Amino acid sequence: MTVQSAPRDDFPALRREIDGQTISYLDNGATTLKPRPVIDAITEYYETNGANIHRGKHRLSEEASDAYEASRTVLARYIGAAANEVVLLRNTTEAVNLVADGLDLPPDAYIVGCLDAHHSQILPWRRAGRLDLTRVDGYGRLDRDHFRQLLRGRPQVVALTHCSNVTGVIHPVEELIAEVRAACDAVIVLDAAQSLPHESVNVHKLNVDFMAFSMHKMLGPTGVGCLFGRSELLAGLRPSSVGGGMVDWVDIDGSVDRRIPFKFEAGTPAIASIIGSAAAIHYLEGLDAGRRHEHAQELCTALVDGALDRPGVSLIGPPDTKDRIPLATLRLADGVPAGEVARLLSDSHGYMVRSGHMCAQPLVTELAGGEVLRVSAYVYNDVTEIEGFYRALDDLLSWMA
Ligand code: PLP
Repeated sequence: MTVQSAPRDDFPALRREIDGQTISYLDNGATTLKPRPVIDAITEYYETNGANIHRGKHRLSEEASDAYEASRTVLARYIGAAANEVVLLRNTTEAVNLVADGLDLPPDAYIVGCLDAHHSQILPWRRAGRLDLTRVDGYGRLDRDHFRQLLRGRPQVVALTHCSNVTGVIHPVEELIAEVRAACDAVIVLDAAQSLPHESVNVHKLNVDFMAFSMHKMLGPTGVGCLFGRSELLAGLRPSSVGGGMVDWVDIDGSVDRRIPFKFEAGTPAIASIIGSAAAIHYLEGLDAGRRHEHAQELCTALVDGALDRPGVSLIGPPDTKDRIPLATLRLADGVPAGEVARLLSDSHGYMVRSGHMCAQPLVTELAGGEVLRVSAYVYNDVTEIEGFYRALDDLLSWMA
């Protein structure tokens, strides 16, 4: 019952102690810790190479370019895409902004989103056109009738969130995408930042046009976000960032962009982190898939049951473990400040959890009315940590509430 799907020893940061107490890292929705092979891949690049890519013809540059492109291929294969359909950026936020800006929509463009979206899937679209957000029910599940009603407005873009970072609900995106395709010819942009760390996705089977995700949420380094785009759509997208590395030719009158995906990768990229990202994918693929699934279910059960068992907290999201990632967001009793609880959980008990509005303020305001506490687990956590977290929370709430 207490076995993780990845050995804790692979994660050096988990050796940290705070005031003599081992830490329990339960803020994986924000970012995950990095296993030794990822750290080693980054270190190896700096220790044995360190050159820039796609510029020089010398041996080190050629080797670095090869390693960088090999990583792109690994990332692309992981989502069922071709290498030229994957743009390497800094994070999900940058990827969504590139699409919202690069589609070059008319100012009155109509865009449909979801109320449970992260700010990174709301603000770029609100700036790009007229955005309507699909309502959710009291558990954060999409109101499918409202979604269909909004589709009747024939949006140019439908911006979907695969999994909410507040409720942990995995939406039935296959069905939603089929509904969009039947209703209009909108470009479909999927935010997979929270789902891909837990679920495998094949972009072509899913029939999505663009998909964004961040490697740092799936054991990879910070500074790497990926944008998948169907090649014909990527070819028509305007680059947001122009400069060195994205052009084939520049003269005093103009320039010729490189082919996709390079035309979106201006400037020197996060070479070491991109090489480390391939190591993260290899690490995830090396874990037993069956055990991972079973383990995620155990974590979900412990998270949901723990919340439902406690009078001082209420769970934001559905009270079951089906179609969710191991994440629970809790509303505390009125007057108990979530930020202060998170600080005390860390400093007095060693539990690292998130507090605030989770960068999804419209949803958190609607479902919780104020700041919340979020506990999110991953491959190196176990059920005893979740139980320990709830005991620590009980302890704090017994005198704070
Ligand atoms: N979308 C979702 C659902 C997220 O949870 C996050 C990060 O928490 C993002 C987008 C933004 O990711 P990043 O900060 O890597 O751009």
